[in-house]
Amino acid sequence: MDLYEHQARELFEEHGIVVPRAEVTDSPRGAREIARRLGGTVIVKAQVKTGGRGKAGGVRLAADPAAAELTARRILGMDIKGHKVGKVMLAQPVDIDREFYVSYVLDRAAGRFLAIASAEGGMEIEEVAATRPEAVARVPVDPAEGVTSAKAAEIAEAAGLPPQTVDVLVRLWQVLVREDALLVEVNPLVRTAQGRIVALDGKVTLDDNAGFRQSRWGAEAAEQDDPLEARAAALGLNYVKLDGEVGIIGNGAGLVMSTLDVVAGCGARPANFLDIGGGASAQIMADGLSVILSDPAVKSVFVNVFGGITACDAVADGIVRALEEVRLTKPLVVRLDGNNAARGRAVLDARAHPLVEQATTMDGAARRAAQLATT
Ligand code: GDP
Ligand code: MN
Repeated sequence: MDLYEHQARELFEEHGIVVPRAEVTDSPRGAREIARRLGGTVIVKAQVKTGGRGKAGGVRLAADPAAAELTARRILGMDIKGHKVGKVMLAQPVDIDREFYVSYVLDRAAGRFLAIASAEGGMEIEEVAATRPEAVARVPVDPAEGVTSAKAAEIAEAAGLPPQTVDVLVRLWQVLVREDALLVEVNPLVRTAQGRIVALDGKVTLDDNAGFRQSRWGAEAAEQDDPLEARAAALGLNYVKLDGEVGIIGNGAGLVMSTLDVVAGCGARPANFLDIGGGASAQIMADGLSVILSDPAVKSVFVNVFGGITACDAVADGIVRALEEVRLTKPLVVRLDGNNAARGRAVLDARAHPLVEQATTMDGAARRAAQLATT
């Protein structure tokens, strides 16, 4: 679960990291009052769970309370990369001398954390990382040892950050550990004209597995991580958004995982996956298909079901029901095997939808779905 910037800011503040004074509101009127309280001139910042707000026009300077109200009115309701702005944070402006980038992120493959830091932070960090990777330091962090002052000094040194950032690097690690985060990122961490180190932006991703002891954020943080993930969760489905073009529906985690691999092996990339679980009913199948088809990145869908507790004819009934509820605009490749497979196949054959194809093997179905998605 990602936190909003204002929530990350609150955590940073609690852990002794210097942040600008700031308040949040969902109304232009409120923005005017906050600006007055903060001394007039403010930075108005869209609160959305996506980066690049600055470039999208979601971070603007307002010279006085009246301007803050106007600016808030402009930003509230804006769409930033598919995220609708429901709140703005107003912050006291900071006089920036230099912008740095710092983050800690879980490196699953290596079984440890990674400190990533650069003396060239700010809105162009992706560009810096792509064109001059040597300007971005990557320092492994052993989770058991953590970030001590010595480790922080090593990170600062590797990235060319000034020594005053060492204290922030230690505190940021404490945020990660105490708040059960998988990622903490500050971009930019700035040195002000007065020589103070201030966190001007924050991104924190909490580990949902620790949700039981991190209940303070409640519903506000859980909302709108991804609209389709939210819809799937509301339907009780396990849905994960990925970057590719083949939508994947399967029953059971193991089958779904190997389906992802087989599709990747055919030269396509999974767009998402949805596990309808064991014992899936027709309704679950219909709901799942409608979620997958709502993802605009999907070019073809691969339904891979091995019937065990789930009977294939129930899955086929669900597909037929889904075809009534949603207009199919993308090709669907279905592979049914196991419990009641023959009956399931017959149901789909009888429906004879022009965009629905059946395949008898998982490999064959994956190849076909990949081909449909990439041509
Ligand atoms: P992002 O674009 O979503 O990462 O939003 P940020 O919060 O990082 O803001 C984008 C950029 O706005 C930052 O990189 C800063 O250059 C600038 N910015 C944000 N707050 C301030 C501020 O208080 N003073 C100044 N001068 N610039 C700011
Ligand atoms: Mn930023």
